[in-house]
Amino acid sequence: MATKHDYYQTLGVPRGASQDEIRKSYRRLARKYHPDLNPGDKPAEEKFKNVQEAYDILSDDKKRQMYDQFGFYSEQGFPPPGAGPRPEGGPGMGFGGFDFGDVFPGGAPQDRGGFSDLFSQFFNRGKGQQSPERGADLEYALNIDFWQSIRGTQVRLNVTRHEVCVTCNGSGASGGGAMQCPQCQGSGNVNQMAGAMKFSLTCPRCGGKGKIKNVCPTCQGEGRMPHPEAVDVRIPPGTRSGSRLRVGGKGSAGTMGAPAGDLYITVRVDDHSFFKRETDNIEIRVPVTVSEAALGAKIEVPTIDGRALLKIPQGTQNGQKFRLRDKGVLNARTNTRGDQIVEVQIQAPKANDERTRELLRELAALHPEDPRAEVWNQV
Ligand SMILES: [Zn+2]
Ligand SMILES: [Zn+2]
Repeated sequence: MATKHDYYQTLGVPRGASQDEIRKSYRRLARKYHPDLNPGDKPAEEKFKNVQEAYDILSDDKKRQMYDQFGFYSEQGFPPPGAGPRPEGGPGMGFGGFDFGDVFPGGAPQDRGGFSDLFSQFFNRGKGQQSPERGADLEYALNIDFWQSIRGTQVRLNVTRHEVCVTCNGSGASGGGAMQCPQCQGSGNVNQMAGAMKFSLTCPRCGGKGKIKNVCPTCQGEGRMPHPEAVDVRIPPGTRSGSRLRVGGKGSAGTMGAPAGDLYITVRVDDHSFFKRETDNIEIRVPVTVSEAALGAKIEVPTIDGRALLKIPQGTQNGQKFRLRDKGVLNARTNTRGDQIVEVQIQAPKANDERTRELLRELAALHPEDPRAEVWNQV
């Protein structure tokens, strides 16, 4: 059977080695024994596995603590006394989880996985040894109407951000004094069940001291508090539907002095019943009479600025489009305006009276040509 591994010996570091020393030694040895660099070399492969396993344990403070205390680390919990030091197929076996990022700086961050969550839960991993973390970004969906999007607007959003706790200034601890460790009730030890076995471990929260620094009563040690806040946001003129606006620093606060996240606002613009926006252009459809189309006319059309005069040339056809320059949307970024595109729709006159019918018959007699002649040429 396998003999007990001395992980420190495997990595060639003293028992009190710092994380830095452990990492450096691991990188050097993993590089030396990596199977890609030693193809077919069985002893090197075995050494590589051992180095990886040793690093898995010693690079993790919690696992290392357990290893130091019991002389083994097992992902299945505590094996009965006298059992092998590591279960087959345990952590660090094989090359599947090897990540060059560990060995060659600048690579991907380590994400080995595969370890039971038992100990990370048990050791309440992460609590009390946090590193500064940037605050979370906040997302907000905002609905505005067509005119607000065209002219720009100022809106007040009620957002709930996490802010640095004012009581403890983000440290999570309250000044002066110490309190009884809530995890071990001051005993310095905690019990852990593994199957039918009961083990006593040094309390990970207080490190066996039975006391911890006073936790801030306002934020319960989080260092941050949810805080509703009204944020005034200027929506620039010409904002399009689907735009995402960033308000820097208005996300949640970071921990331990790290910067706050950002607030992102996704803007939805309601459709207008008449004006249709297409990029920075405005598109409209206006009805014209047969006479206006045939004879030409100056007609008034609506624009986002009010009324404007549009000249329809003689012989205008249905569906023809005309451009009113610079009557579109002001683009705040380029400080230029789009155009308005006017599509004309010719309306047939209502021939409700004899006089109109007579004139139209006369017109028909004057133009006997078949308007569908071109159609027959195409089919
Ligand atoms: Zn606090
Ligand atoms: Zn404790």
